[in-house]
Amino acid sequence: MRLVLLGPPGAGKGTQAAILSEKLGVPHISTGDLFRANIGEGTPLGLEAKSYMDAGNLVPDDVTVRMVESRLEEDDAKAGFLLDGFPRTVPQADELERILKGLGLDLDGVVQFDVSEDVVVERMLARGRADDTEDVIRNRMQVYARETAPLLDHYADKVIKIKAEGTVEEINAATMAELDKLK
Ligand code: ADP
Repeated sequence: MRLVLLGPPGAGKGTQAAILSEKLGVPHISTGDLFRANIGEGTPLGLEAKSYMDAGNLVPDDVTVRMVESRLEEDDAKAGFLLDGFPRTVPQADELERILKGLGLDLDGVVQFDVSEDVVVERMLARGRADDTEDVIRNRMQVYARETAPLLDHYADKVIKIKAEGTVEEINAATMAELDKLK
């Protein structure tokens, strides 16, 4: 199955993606995790991404798209994938379409994790990642509203909306039930 996971920062995409990846047998591809791995290894890509991430801004599309393209070309992605954190802008969605077309593939669905702003701020402050300070969180929320939320219209015919405010298990069960309908 080839899915895009969408939702504001702190919506729990990463947590749900890890479980879904196991159950569906497809890799979880998180751009945030790929960037953080590059930062950890001190690669040129990591050095470039870090200043944007620390401020809660988006890493430029060209850098991000190249990283995702090479990841999608790896063998394990042939079975399908869960994209977490990409696309995050309409131009990135257009690039994804180009990449998939080149591979002769199409998306099966776009899972939207719907959650209120209060809940996401609470979750992120509890998580305590380097870019989870209050100012940076606020900026990331604004960037989401401005750059990423338009993707819900862009993908209107593919969106599967999940209410993402219960327990981790409840949200996973709701997602699996919806995905079963795609088969
Ligand atoms: P969250 O889901 O909490 O926003 P992520 O780990 O997905 O956290 O992303 C952290 C940061 O990584 C973002 O704020 C941004 O700087 C960068 N990033 C991740 N994905 C993308 C992307 N597709 N385009 C540009 N920047 C990205």
